[in-house]
Amino acid sequence: CGIVGYVGHQQARDVVVEGLRRLEYRGYDSAGIAVVADGAVASDKRAGKLANLEKALEESPLPPSTLGIGHTRWATHGAPTDRNAHPHPGRAGRLALVHNGILENFAELRGELEEQGHEMVSDTDTEVAAHLLERALDDGLDLTAAMQAVCRRLHGAFTLVAVDAHDPEVVVAARRNSPLVVGLGEGENFLGSDVAAFIGHTREALELEQDQVVTLRRDGVEVTGFDGTPSEGKRYHVDWDLSA
Ligand code: GLU
Repeated sequence: CGIVGYVGHQQARDVVVEGLRRLEYRGYDSAGIAVVADGAVASDKRAGKLANLEKALEESPLPPSTLGIGHTRWATHGAPTDRNAHPHPGRAGRLALVHNGILENFAELRGELEEQGHEMVSDTDTEVAAHLLERALDDGLDLTAAMQAVCRRLHGAFTLVAVDAHDPEVVVAARRNSPLVVGLGEGENFLGSDVAAFIGHTREALELEQDQVVTLRRDGVEVTGFDGTPSEGKRYHVDWDLSA
């Protein structure tokens, strides 16, 4: 439902939770966050209000990190439980992935993965994308190429955002028939399912077209098609009144 991504110099936890708070108006049933620190993904996710997640993070804080992703879920496949909340790890927990939308061919992909020995731990359509992404990373693709490869296999509507423990400098996102906006900062960049997620930090934004992948680093942003073709993206200035 709501998506936030961040890479920069601030504490990712604070930027991500604040972004999720600003997206609350959309409604949701669960919330989760993941950061990358010391070569590992650290994550927490809870059914219920964002306050549940914040309480859990106070009791058991995530390690400091300047890169992270967050999600508020509006369940379409699988009940609103901690287990079904996003982010989803892959099989070995090397990555974290959040998803808005519906993967129409998830049952077929799930069957294929289970035949190859993958065990799913959630009832979501999303989890197959996490497993496919991890497999592509394990095959040696970088996160951008892995995301492109996975998106070519997915049907339906999706915004996906992922981080990889082996590459703590990038956040990669993709979209098809589902919203995703990039916020451009100074030495930091943002992702949101809408500009509300980052408007407290920057008003310079980049709009993506359908079937595009964006690779976010502290010092820049690259846009490509699902086939890897480089693209520009359309820059614009957000002139909403923040107090509205
Ligand atoms: N289909 C996914 C799920 O049920 C994502 C739902 C959403 O857009 O929040 O977990």
